[in-house]
Amino acid sequence: MQVNGPHFMRLAKNKIMVCMLCPKSCSLSVADNFNGVSIENNGCNKGIQFAKKELADPERILTSTMKVDHGVLPLVSVRGDNPVKKDELKALIKQLDGMTLYAPVLSGQIVASDFGRNSVNIIATRTIDRLN
Ligand code: SF4
Repeated sequence: MQVNGPHFMRLAKNKIMVCMLCPKSCSLSVADNFNGVSIENNGCNKGIQFAKKELADPERILTSTMKVDHGVLPLVSVRGDNPVKKDELKALIKQLDGMTLYAPVLSGQIVASDFGRNSVNIIATRTIDRLN
Protein backbone atom coordinates (compact mmCIF):
# COMPACT_ATOMS: atom_id res chain seq x y z
CA MET A 1 0.00 0.00 0.00
CA GLN A 2 1.32 3.47 -0.89
CA VAL A 3 1.16 6.05 1.89
CA ASN A 4 1.87 9.70 1.19
CA GLY A 5 2.00 12.69 3.49
CA PRO A 6 4.33 14.97 5.41
CA HIS A 7 4.93 12.48 8.25
CA PHE A 8 6.59 10.10 5.86
CA MET A 9 9.08 12.49 4.27
CA ARG A 10 11.58 11.76 7.07
CA LEU A 11 12.05 8.08 6.24
CA ALA A 12 15.61 7.83 4.94
CA LYS A 13 15.77 4.19 3.87
CA ASN A 14 13.90 0.92 3.66
CA LYS A 15 13.24 -0.98 6.86
CA ILE A 16 11.54 -4.01 8.33
CA MET A 17 9.15 -3.26 11.15
CA VAL A 18 7.48 -5.93 13.32
CA CYS A 19 3.82 -5.15 13.96
CA MET A 20 3.10 -5.62 17.66
CA LEU A 21 -0.68 -5.38 17.51
CA CYS A 22 -1.41 -9.11 17.54
CA PRO A 23 0.44 -12.44 18.06
CA LYS A 24 0.92 -12.91 14.30
CA SER A 25 3.76 -10.33 14.52
CA CYS A 26 3.88 -9.52 10.81
CA SER A 27 7.22 -8.27 9.50
CA LEU A 28 6.15 -5.13 7.69
CA SER A 29 8.32 -4.09 4.79
CA VAL A 30 8.46 -0.28 4.74
CA ALA A 31 10.13 1.22 1.68
CA ASP A 32 10.79 4.76 0.55
CA ASN A 33 10.37 5.34 -3.16
CA PHE A 34 9.53 8.10 -5.63
CA ASN A 35 5.79 7.74 -5.02
CA GLY A 36 6.03 8.02 -1.24
CA VAL A 37 6.28 5.29 1.38
CA SER A 38 4.99 1.80 0.69
CA ILE A 39 4.04 -0.66 3.44
CA GLU A 40 3.79 -4.35 2.54
CA ASN A 41 3.50 -7.80 4.16
CA ASN A 42 0.81 -6.57 6.55
CA GLY A 43 -1.65 -9.29 7.45
CA CYS A 44 -4.43 -6.73 7.91
CA ASN A 45 -5.07 -2.99 7.73
CA LYS A 46 -4.11 -2.51 11.37
CA GLY A 47 -0.51 -3.05 10.24
CA ILE A 48 -0.74 0.07 8.06
CA GLN A 49 -1.95 2.10 11.05
CA PHE A 50 0.80 0.59 13.20
CA ALA A 51 3.52 1.52 10.68
CA LYS A 52 2.15 5.07 10.29
CA LYS A 53 2.20 5.53 14.08
CA GLU A 54 5.71 4.05 14.35
CA LEU A 55 7.05 6.41 11.70
CA ALA A 56 5.34 9.54 12.98
CA ASP A 57 5.12 9.15 16.78
CA PRO A 58 6.42 5.85 18.24
CA GLU A 59 5.25 4.90 21.73
CA ARG A 60 5.88 1.99 24.10
CA ILE A 61 4.37 0.60 27.29
CA LEU A 62 6.82 1.26 30.12
CA THR A 63 7.64 -1.81 32.21
CA SER A 64 10.25 -1.78 34.96
CA THR A 65 10.87 -2.41 38.65
CA MET A 66 11.06 -0.08 41.64
CA LYS A 67 12.87 -0.46 44.92
CA VAL A 68 10.77 -1.30 47.99
CA ASP A 69 11.89 -0.44 51.51
CA HIS A 70 10.87 -2.77 54.36
CA GLY A 71 9.20 -5.22 51.97
CA VAL A 72 9.40 -9.02 51.87
CA LEU A 73 11.03 -8.49 48.46
CA PRO A 74 13.39 -5.62 47.57
CA LEU A 75 11.75 -4.82 44.21
CA VAL A 76 8.25 -4.58 42.76
CA SER A 77 7.37 -4.87 39.06
CA VAL A 78 5.56 -1.85 37.62
CA ARG A 79 4.05 -0.74 34.31
CA GLY A 80 2.50 2.36 32.80
CA ASP A 81 -1.27 2.50 32.37
CA ASN A 82 -0.78 3.99 28.88
CA PRO A 83 2.10 4.12 26.37
CA VAL A 84 4.89 6.69 26.75
CA LYS A 85 6.84 8.34 23.94
CA LYS A 86 9.60 5.97 22.81
CA ASP A 87 12.27 8.70 22.94
CA GLU A 88 11.72 9.28 26.67
CA LEU A 89 11.41 5.62 27.74
CA LYS A 90 14.99 5.23 29.03
CA ALA A 91 14.90 8.52 30.95
CA LEU A 92 11.62 7.59 32.63
CA ILE A 93 12.94 4.16 33.66
CA LYS A 94 16.04 5.87 35.10
CA GLN A 95 13.75 8.20 37.03
CA LEU A 96 11.89 5.20 38.50
CA ASP A 97 15.27 3.62 39.40
CA GLY A 98 15.93 6.61 41.65
CA MET A 99 12.69 6.25 43.59
CA THR A 100 11.92 3.99 46.58
CA LEU A 101 8.49 2.79 47.72
CA TYR A 102 7.59 1.78 51.24
CA ALA A 103 5.92 -1.56 51.89
CA PRO A 104 3.22 -2.64 51.77
CA VAL A 105 2.70 -2.06 48.06
CA LEU A 106 -0.56 -3.39 46.62
CA SER A 107 -1.05 -4.87 43.16
CA GLY A 108 -2.84 -2.23 41.07
CA GLN A 109 -1.70 0.64 43.28
CA ILE A 110 -0.65 3.83 41.49
CA VAL A 111 2.91 4.37 42.72
CA ALA A 112 3.79 7.39 40.54
CA SER A 113 1.69 9.68 38.38
CA ASP A 114 1.98 12.29 35.63
CA PHE A 115 4.94 10.53 34.05
CA GLY A 116 6.32 11.72 30.72
CA ARG A 117 4.70 13.81 28.01
CA ASN A 118 1.70 11.45 28.01
CA SER A 119 1.18 11.92 31.78
CA VAL A 120 0.88 8.18 32.47
CA ASN A 121 0.31 6.58 35.85
CA ILE A 122 2.81 3.95 37.00
CA ILE A 123 1.07 0.94 38.55
CA ALA A 124 2.46 -1.88 40.73
CA THR A 125 1.76 -5.25 39.13
CA ARG A 126 2.14 -7.35 42.28
CA THR A 127 1.71 -7.03 46.03
CA ILE A 128 4.76 -6.69 48.25
CA ASP A 129 3.87 -7.22 51.92
CA ARG A 130 5.63 -5.43 54.73
CA LEU A 131 8.50 -7.24 56.43
CA ASN A 132 7.62 -8.06 60.05
S1 SF4 B 1 -0.61 -6.50 10.51
FE1 SF4 B 1 -2.53 -7.26 11.37
S2 SF4 B 1 -2.28 -9.50 11.36
FE2 SF4 B 1 -0.23 -8.61 11.17
S3 SF4 B 1 0.55 -8.43 13.30
FE3 SF4 B 1 -0.40 -6.46 12.75
S4 SF4 B 1 -2.50 -6.62 13.53
FE4 SF4 B 1 -1.66 -8.73 13.42
